[in-house]
Amino acid sequence: MKCPRTGVIMKEVAVGHFKIDICESCAGIWFDHLEFEKFDEAHEKTGDEVLKLLESIPKFPLDLNRRIHCPRCIDAVLMRRFESPLKKIALDECPSCGGLWLDAGELAEYRKLFPKEEDRKKASQEFVNKEIMPLFKKEAQKGEDELKQAKHIAGMFRLVCPSFYIPGKQEGAAF
Ligand SMILES: [Zn+2]
Repeated sequence: MKCPRTGVIMKEVAVGHFKIDICESCAGIWFDHLEFEKFDEAHEKTGDEVLKLLESIPKFPLDLNRRIHCPRCIDAVLMRRFESPLKKIALDECPSCGGLWLDAGELAEYRKLFPKEEDRKKASQEFVNKEIMPLFKKEAQKGEDELKQAKHIAGMFRLVCPSFYIPGKQEGAAF
């Protein structure tokens, strides 16, 4: 399997019960669907092992903004998956097979940011409460205001021109 960043053939390594693919050129890692969660928490030894494997690989200048393709599905473009409200880490996920690509340094950073699964859940809940919910509320409020205004205008016309509201008697009756 080729590295989605560098095109170099990746090395398959057995860590614990898993086989993951690492790129010895850019220090990126490929996790198949659901494998990543066996490596992501700070207390998991599997993650330590992977980090040790990657330690000796020299840093490679990479254009992380470039969209990359799934090394398994080839045609599928990986989707950026932001893991923190501050968008500190963006993992690349395949929408087709669910595999996950981590660029150099992202595993270490991820484990530091979210030592446990609860930390990640808490962070994303906080993000939803703080950033997403106010947007929804604002939209809902806007809808209500517009409805009120529409009713108000309709009411005004009802007084001025009642015959307009007799159903079926006029062209393009709106109410
Ligand atoms: Zn894929």
